[in-house]
Amino acid sequence: MEVFELMSDMGHEQIAFCYDKVSGLKAIIAIHDTTLGPALGGTRMWNYDTEEEAIVDALRLSQGMTYKSAAMGLNLGGGKGVIIADSRKDKSEELWRAYGRFVDSLGGRYITAEDVGTSPEDLAIVAEETEFAGGLMHKSGDPSPATAYGVFVGIQAAIEHLDGSSDLTGTKVAIQGVGSVGYVLCDYLHDAGAELIVSDIYEDKVERVVRDFGAEVADPDDIYGVACDVYSPCALGAVINDTTLPQLNCRVVAGAANNQLEERHHGDALRQKGILYATDFVINGGGVTNVYHEFHPGGYSKELAYKKIAGIGGQLHRIFETSEKEDIPTHVAAERIARARIEAIGQIQRIRV
Ligand code: NAD
Repeated sequence: MEVFELMSDMGHEQIAFCYDKVSGLKAIIAIHDTTLGPALGGTRMWNYDTEEEAIVDALRLSQGMTYKSAAMGLNLGGGKGVIIADSRKDKSEELWRAYGRFVDSLGGRYITAEDVGTSPEDLAIVAEETEFAGGLMHKSGDPSPATAYGVFVGIQAAIEHLDGSSDLTGTKVAIQGVGSVGYVLCDYLHDAGAELIVSDIYEDKVERVVRDFGAEVADPDDIYGVACDVYSPCALGAVINDTTLPQLNCRVVAGAANNQLEERHHGDALRQKGILYATDFVINGGGVTNVYHEFHPGGYSKELAYKKIAGIGGQLHRIFETSEKEDIPTHVAAERIARARIEAIGQIQRIRV
């Protein structure tokens, strides 16, 4: 693997490899672009098969964070931490504190928060060693409900774009993964009168949404082919691929998962199939926006954070319109809008103060 070549191709600034023998910590922190501000992105704890897989994940996820924060109008760059470990077995106080010290050593270039496999309780331990940790329990807390709100607003925007009304009464939404984000999303959708079809690999999670929201259930392998208005990936990335594309039977793809397109050309394929894709890094920007507001000079305000998250609807409308006007897929339109902001704000740094 040619790491510097990969960094050059993807536009990364830095990768930090962090190792602590005593706690067994093996972490990789990738900083993609700090033009707009410090690189903020959660830390993922995952049992990667290979170190190469972990590096690629950190690089891809941190790049996504740059675009996400740029598109949300936040003064943040993109970063991501990954810890190679099993989140059910390998957590310890010394591991989190060692990680916190490594985060601190970057001097604020990287700010961490929760991601898959990490919780507000874990972040509380990290925060004992560094001020550069967000999503804390006594502040904005778990970002998942904020992410779910943003996805809900994004689904409304997509339906409004197609049908002229954001009313979701009777809209069929197939949700893949009803964990921290998926469950809260089901709650919003149920309140709005949508019909839910859900899948998860854990029976208890499925039972909870059936009981609480009267959802129908699909087998995890069958969720792609469910006839619905909206397919909402809220579990894994790379779910839009050569195998799933022919199965899709929806008008919209709009969910929380990061890196939904396995390859960029799968975004083009969605467009060719006439499926409206609410670009992942825009629709799932609610969580980072919520954490960002922790660092607001006036302190965290849920009201201000959620007002900003509601803006995901307007941003998606802009992307859908750009996509149509310029005859390009929505993921390309979204990247253009994000890059334009990074370039414009980067330019003002030439003004000496
Ligand atoms: P989570 O781990 O709480 O939930 C994911 C759920 O998906 C779990 O219930 C899991 O059992 C289920 N799942 C896993 N594989 C599945 C499969 N093959 N089919 C069906 N279900 C499956 O994670 P989360 O915090 O809810 O995040 C969901 C996704 O959204 C992730 O991809 C995450 O990276 C992304 N995301 C989350 C946030 C956030 O604030 N939590 C923010 C941005 C993006």
